[in-house]
Amino acid sequence: MKELSPPKVEELFNLRSFRESNREEINAVTKMLKKRGKELWIQASLADEARFVQVGEDVSFVINQNINFTQNCIGSCRFCSYRVELKENKTDKYRLSLDDIGVEIDKAIARGCTEVCVQGGLDPELSFDFYINILKTVKAKTSNIHIHAFSPSEIAFMSQISGESVEDIFIELKKNGLDSFPGTSAEILVDDIRRIICPDKISTSQWINITLTGHLVGLKSTSTMMYGHIESLEDQAEHLVLLKDIQSHSKNFTEFIPLPFIHTNTVLYRYLGARPGSTGMQDLALFSTARLYFGEVIPNIQASWVKLGPKFAQISLNTGVNDLGGTLFSEKITKSAGGSHGEEKTVEEFVELIRDSNRIPVQRDTLYNRLRTH
Ligand code: SF4
Repeated sequence: MKELSPPKVEELFNLRSFRESNREEINAVTKMLKKRGKELWIQASLADEARFVQVGEDVSFVINQNINFTQNCIGSCRFCSYRVELKENKTDKYRLSLDDIGVEIDKAIARGCTEVCVQGGLDPELSFDFYINILKTVKAKTSNIHIHAFSPSEIAFMSQISGESVEDIFIELKKNGLDSFPGTSAEILVDDIRRIICPDKISTSQWINITLTGHLVGLKSTSTMMYGHIESLEDQAEHLVLLKDIQSHSKNFTEFIPLPFIHTNTVLYRYLGARPGSTGMQDLALFSTARLYFGEVIPNIQASWVKLGPKFAQISLNTGVNDLGGTLFSEKITKSAGGSHGEEKTVEEFVELIRDSNRIPVQRDTLYNRLRTH
């Protein structure tokens, strides 16, 4: 395969000296992330009150289906067990065809999904047309399903294989049915950490500039952070300060999703000394910090039940969280890393978890419009 040139992305955000010029804010957020014991419970209680004021008693979720369309990937992320290297004897065993994707869409329609979340590896056998054809395949089946697809690192890859600018890639994807994109591949937005955990992935400034380009084209995205591996609390704080700063520019983040590192089958844990994910107290400190620090700027804080487990996700509802994410039919990425909380949740299970927390279960769409109160 020929050497890929860097993605063509305009510099909309200048990262130089960000840490120095935001030192005080980063220190204040680090202090919040460090809270333990009684101080943590006080912070959690304040976050719970802030949640009530900002978004009320609703706990939302979306009925969605994952489509992870290719495991072939030229990346080398050391926290990833989903990727499969393309061997000499090429095989499409690990890649869905457009017909396969069509079958998945039929299943999503039958299950009442309002969203499909489409992501895959950086597969060197694919052309940009394939990505466009995925969108066309979905839209040919139904116009009622929101297509939430392609992380910033996949967008960079499309720019590399096609030679088109990131802006043109987004415009073309949007024209063909892309409705929003996942803010995954952010991991930790600190380059010293990225060089160890995902050395071939887009840099912090590339992630920010690609995300902002998507936002400027009129697409919303989620924001995420993968934590609990080798990063420090100060790195987490810097990531949160960056996300708030981006949001103050574009206002197009729909939510913040903290993603605890699932360690079991990963190189990062087995050979590179990473921690085995976060502790429960670290999770609660992060949720409450996110609620208090982001406030109205990013008012939706999601707990990922697939990473945390449903019981802990339910506990997190008392610490600033107001969303439980999606049913995630056919989730594969967390499972391959050793996650053990199952591949999907039914609506009834969500409703039970939420009602048992004295809160109101609300089915939402991808952009947080209320669809049904249970
Ligand atoms: S996280 Fe994504 S880009 Fe990285 S190795 Fe896995 S599939 Fe490839």
